[in-house]
Amino acid sequence: MPENKVNTLITDSPLEAAKVLLRGGLVIFPTETVYGIGASAFDHKACRRIYEVKKRPSDNPLILHVENIAALKVCASVNPAGELVFQKFSPGAITGIFSKKDPNLFTADLKTVAVRIPSNPTAHSFLEFCNVPVAAPSANLSGKPSLTKMEYILEEFSGKVDCILKGEEPKIGIESTVIDFTSDPPILLRPGFVDFQDLKEILPELQVLISKDKTQNTSTDAPISPGLKYRHYAPVCKVILTESLENVPQDAAQIGFQFYKDVTYQIQVFTNEDYMQFLYSFFVECDRRKIAEAYCEIPKEGRGKDALLNRITKAASK
Ligand code: AMP
Ligand code: MG
Repeated sequence: MPENKVNTLITDSPLEAAKVLLRGGLVIFPTETVYGIGASAFDHKACRRIYEVKKRPSDNPLILHVENIAALKVCASVNPAGELVFQKFSPGAITGIFSKKDPNLFTADLKTVAVRIPSNPTAHSFLEFCNVPVAAPSANLSGKPSLTKMEYILEEFSGKVDCILKGEEPKIGIESTVIDFTSDPPILLRPGFVDFQDLKEILPELQVLISKDKTQNTSTDAPISPGLKYRHYAPVCKVILTESLENVPQDAAQIGFQFYKDVTYQIQVFTNEDYMQFLYSFFVECDRRKIAEAYCEIPKEGRGKDALLNRITKAASK
């Protein structure tokens, strides 16, 4: 079915963007992780439109974005473990799952709610003007890489959403770390920029979701986080995770630390932080250039490795 084109307001005013959202519109806004596509979490009709625009499976719930810890506590019952983590890492790239406090919030029929407090200044100002929780998954078509550049957002979403808010571009480049605080002990569901070691320091009891099939689509296993069962982050091209970029074919693309030769398209990185920042734009560019194979060097040991491996192996598993 052809989608109805809508007039998209493109603005750098968080106030104008908030007005659109409060009138029931969909607004794309930058965060420090990736771009988000948001609606008022009290407006269930607008939230359902996010699913249509993204072609997102209806059982994959949305993360709510709020401006500060006080606003988080209006949405969610924050337990001591959650309080500890949010005091230390928020605002920032960390999402907590709690039991839902306000029954009017849109949570795709769950009794729990996932909430994040972004640190990006444009996002922060926008959320302050909205003054309601903003339900916002990543602004990309479901299953495709999340988008980290305004250029890609304009290409993909002009005419599909009511407003695109321009501002500081995402710096981290991959989605937030997700922790389920409703389980005891809490469980790290999705690795991100804030990594397991950082979290373990203040939350020694934290567990990781390691079961290989819980992160994959399993019909027998009910996943804790519905989104984990879907293939994610994948470009059209074939993604290959490799120890060394030595044998990358000339017509392929490569991202990593050590190049042996120049190939059709490549991004050299120096740290895992760079790698996170550029991974998704690398995937998007590979598809734009119709490159068949994208080689990704295994990330360095240490911070960011888990998050990168998680995204690359998901992109590689077709
Ligand atoms: P996205 O915002 O698209 O990066 O994805 C949000 C992630 O958070 C998905 O993996 C969702 O399944 C997960 N999520 C959102 N709300 C909940 C919830 N209430 N319980 C468990 N997982 C959630
Ligand atoms: Mg997403």
